[in-house]
Amino acid sequence: MTLAAFAYQRPRSLAEAVEAMAEAPDARWLSGGMSLLPMMKLELAAPPALLDLSGVEDLRGIRDEGDFLHIGAMTRHVELARDPAVRRDAHLASLAAERIGDPQVRNRGTVGGSLAHADPAADLPAALLALDAEVEAVSARGRRALSVQDLLLGPMMTALEPDELIVAIRIPKHTGHRQAYTKVPHPASGYAVVGVAVAIHEEGGRVRQAAIAVTGVALKAFRAARAEAVLAGQAVDQEVLAEAAGLVCDGQDVLGDVYASAAYRRQLAQVVTRRTLEGLR
Ligand SMILES: Cc1cc2nc3c(=O)[nH]c(=O)nc-3n(C[C@H](O)[C@H](O)[C@H](O)COP(=O)(O)OP(=O)(O)OC[C@H]3O[C@@H](n4cnc5c(N)ncnc54)[C@H](O)[C@@H]3O)c2cc1C
Repeated sequence: MTLAAFAYQRPRSLAEAVEAMAEAPDARWLSGGMSLLPMMKLELAAPPALLDLSGVEDLRGIRDEGDFLHIGAMTRHVELARDPAVRRDAHLASLAAERIGDPQVRNRGTVGGSLAHADPAADLPAALLALDAEVEAVSARGRRALSVQDLLLGPMMTALEPDELIVAIRIPKHTGHRQAYTKVPHPASGYAVVGVAVAIHEEGGRVRQAAIAVTGVALKAFRAARAEAVLAGQAVDQEVLAEAAGLVCDGQDVLGDVYASAAYRRQLAQVVTRRTLEGLR
């Protein structure tokens, strides 16, 4: 497990980072290294150069921007889990972040790295999908925003161009929404065999907005549109919850692997969804 040789650069500003990538287009961004370095050690990736983002101050910090929270891409999982503004206005992101891996992984891994890596069993993509978050990406061609929904294309596949850098995640505030994240983790890795992220907004005893996102179950995290539709406008009771949970994998090609067969995973997703929804009440 020795690493192949690679060039290493540590840009000190966003402009320097973008310029360095334009000059070395085969390079890869390095954030926490919690996914990229294991891939290099396993010889699943052999980038000729790494551009270490740890010196780019512009990528750090959590800011209140009125209706949104701005989360710098280099925000560590542990910071997301503990930040008071995130806990108040986008609690689901904190709940998912605190379930990631172990303390070492949470102390090194970053929000931008997790989204860019797009592991189909990762926690944050589901939470950020349920929160309708968007990412801000930058390259030498300029800046663009895309929703997390549009970002995630498949396992370890995103809509980012190879030279694009996620600079921030913008989360619409969900203050007062009831939020929960439940994960059945794989006992060795901690990744989700099934993870369900829920954000519900009720008014006058009825669901005004329901978001349910699932990870670990399909080739990418997804929103459970039919389950959400069952809840919308309803005064929620046990029957409605059961109906919604039963539809959580609707339309999805559920994964089967050595950890869990497709039938088991589907059943588990339904049970976890139901318990998560019940836990909100
Ligand atoms: C033992 C272990 C257990 C783990 N358990 C879990 C778990 O339970 N749940 C979970 O969700 N995750 C888990 N992880 C993964 C962890 O969350 C990683 O932190 C995350 O997937 C990648 O973030 P990173 O900052 O380390 O990115 P890196 O490893 O540095 O980069 C990952 C990829 O993203 C690219 N990249 C990085 N930053 C950016 C950016 N800003 N813009 C564009 N591209 C970028 C890199 O070039 C690379 O391709 C685990 C990891 C380990 C090692």
